[in-house]
Amino acid sequence: MTEQDSKDKYIKCSRCKCKYINDDNHNKTDFGYNRLNERYKTCVTCRERHKQYNHTYNQNHKDESKEYRKEHKEERAEYDKQYKKDNREYCNNLTKLSKIKKLAKPCENGFQRCTSCATAKDLSNYGEYLNRSEEVMHYVRCVDCRNREKAWLTKT
Ligand SMILES: [Zn+2]
Ligand SMILES: [Zn+2]
Repeated sequence: MTEQDSKDKYIKCSRCKCKYINDDNHNKTDFGYNRLNERYKTCVTCRERHKQYNHTYNQNHKDESKEYRKEHKEERAEYDKQYKKDNREYCNNLTKLSKIKKLAKPCENGFQRCTSCATAKDLSNYGEYLNRSEEVMHYVRCVDCRNREKAWLTKT
């Protein structure tokens, strides 16, 4: 028997490496087919075992995290409240900005809306760079915003 023959006669499960007889009837019961009518690469036994394992794993960890969250619920709420209080300006700005950004549309006629301050400015306010295909691109954030960030990053 050549290598080719043995391949055709048997199919190896890619997980447990067991050999199964390769004909339609056996394939159906030993491997099964997916919705695209492709034969699974792992045998039914392996897939069942894997499913079982995942199920148990999820079950255990679900309980764990649910339990954990329940225990720390108040702590967590307290933390969130305190964080918002301490960073009120920051949090408010985030909410405001995300609303503006959702509404922001790319501008036309040589104008572009900065993704940071959401102001429409003409292209000369953005600066240019060359992308990998050597095309001239404009930054998505205006020079002012980029400078502001640069200053913030380098402040000591
Ligand atoms: Zn298997
Ligand atoms: Zn800007």
